Amino acid sequence: MRLLPLLWAAVAAAAATAQAPIVTTVLSNGTTQSRYDMVILGDGYQATEQNKFNTDVSTFLTALFQTQPYQTFAAYYNVHTVFRASVESGADRPDETPPVFRNTVYNASYNIGGTDRCLYIQNTSLALADAALAPATEGRVLVMVNDTRYGGCAGQFAVSYTGSQMSNVQIHELGHSLGQLADEYDYPNNTYTGGEPSTVNITTSPTGAKWSIWHGTDGISAFEGAGYHLFGLFRPKQNCMMRSLGVALCRVCQENIVKITNSIADTIVTTTPASTAVTVPVPQLQVFSFTHIVPPGNAPVIQWRLDGNVVPGATGTSYTFDPTTVTLGLHTLEASVRDQTPLVRSDPAQVMRETHTWQVTVNDPSAGQLRIPALSTNVTFVPAGGAVTLTTTVINDGPATAGPFDVEWFLSPTPSWTPQSTYLGKVTVGSLAALQQTVIPRTVNLPWGMPATVHYVFAVADRLDVFNETNENDNTRSVPILGQAPGCVTKIEFQDPLVYPFDSASMSRTAGGAVHPRLIAPCANPATTIYLMAWTGSGTQPGIGLAPGLVLPINYDPLTQLGLDGLNGPVFGGFLGLLDAQGRAQATFTLPPSASVPLGQTHFAAVLLGNTQLFTAVSNPIGLQILP
Ligand SMILES: [Zn+2]
Repeated sequence: MRLLPLLWAAVAAAAATAQAPIVTTVLSNGTTQSRYDMVILGDGYQATEQNKFNTDVSTFLTALFQTQPYQTFAAYYNVHTVFRASVESGADRPDETPPVFRNTVYNASYNIGGTDRCLYIQNTSLALADAALAPATEGRVLVMVNDTRYGGCAGQFAVSYTGSQMSNVQIHELGHSLGQLADEYDYPNNTYTGGEPSTVNITTSPTGAKWSIWHGTDGISAFEGAGYHLFGLFRPKQNCMMRSLGVALCRVCQENIVKITNSIADTIVTTTPASTAVTVPVPQLQVFSFTHIVPPGNAPVIQWRLDGNVVPGATGTSYTFDPTTVTLGLHTLEASVRDQTPLVRSDPAQVMRETHTWQVTVNDPSAGQLRIPALSTNVTFVPAGGAVTLTTTVINDGPATAGPFDVEWFLSPTPSWTPQSTYLGKVTVGSLAALQQTVIPRTVNLPWGMPATVHYVFAVADRLDVFNETNENDNTRSVPILGQAPGCVTKIEFQDPLVYPFDSASMSRTAGGAVHPRLIAPCANPATTIYLMAWTGSGTQPGIGLAPGLVLPINYDPLTQLGLDGLNGPVFGGFLGLLDAQGRAQATFTLPPSASVPLGQTHFAAVLLGNTQLFTAVSNPIGLQILP
């Protein structure tokens, strides 16, 4: 029964000594996401010495931000401290006689690795755990060791004593941990025989080629003796903080610190709108803006880009976006600010340039969004001139009702559609409500001149962009078909853009124009067969009897005579000739503007003559409507 009070007493005593770590943000310039966050721990401070720790941190920070390049970029850092009290003050001095050992939280000790002034902590796992209590850290942590004997060392942690050289030691160690810099002093070794060091401020090159961009500036050249070697390694400047305490960091060292700081800190700190995804309905103007922390003395250069292209004149922190100047749909808007500090001369990774990108969706409340989610055919193999039934589904994704608009079909020899592809006609959709679809079944005849190979049937919705859409680039769909030879036919058809069916065209008499009748006679002997095309304005019945069972479906009239008189002239181009090797012929009928021909329906038909000068075949008639 006496055990429990004893246990309580022990727990209470342990709690009194094991003070919880105290986390403080001593310098706050912004969010941890947008700044380089440093964390400082203390070792060898008793609970009663917390004020001394605070003073040591303050002394160091004052010195740090009076030192270049930290002075210029002071606003890029946050500093947090984590204070955990030690039982005793100071650090272990195992190399003294007699050796000194202190009970401290991170167990700091001098003479690490046999170097008397190398002061480093030995309980790194607790130090890491404590550092993790800070709001953020960029990886390496500073440790102030409350001891007056000169010393410091950098590894995973940057460690310094707290005597008169404390600030210099910590700024030097920060050169290692933050700036990833090498020591520029040249002891204790003689001649370096290794490869080129990866650090920016020492080199095996006797000319210092690595930092040639700085040569001649601020005493930068190449000086032998660096990286713990008297010979074979070179440093940028006669003296530098990375070589001796109490002197400035050389420009090569400063540049790397600036670049690493900028690679972590975000110079763009606020953006409006805050969301990176912005929807802008036409015609509403939208202002985009941002704030940044690039020091004015560094001559920040601002540039806005829309879809990757520089916006001329958009060089301020605010940009007014006019959605009527772009297409509906998704755009990228980028703001960038570039720091032109003279402290950086080489920036291939562009860490001195910060960008912010908005994904801007421009929509139109009066627009819809047509798509063709499906297109199918009833057959896969189709003979030339044969029929195929196309089933086309058109959807309107909204928001506005679409229509009227046309759905058109084309035949292309390639998987890409162009308006010059063979036309297969159109259907007009009167109205298609938002979120509705329509299925259009339609049977079309393919051209007699279609080669026996693979073709692609395309469906195109609103080809002429009559209807305003959020995305005008998703209005086609294709399906392949396999064309087959037409058999032994004698056919003519128009092969002109946007003419369908192929036996029916029209033309304005006032404007004039041209059509291109094509003759297909694959079984005729191309070497000996002559073809003749004829024109009529008086119909196809009863036609002209040429031989028993062979009637040319043309009634002879003045237009027919006009054609015969002008064969292969400027109007009736290619109306008489030999078939080509494929048994085909191409003709061109060209009507000059305001020609004195009657209005109304006219027709063409073709006849073939064999080598015996006998008529051997006649074609179908095709119609050309002469309109006012
Ligand atoms: Zn240096």
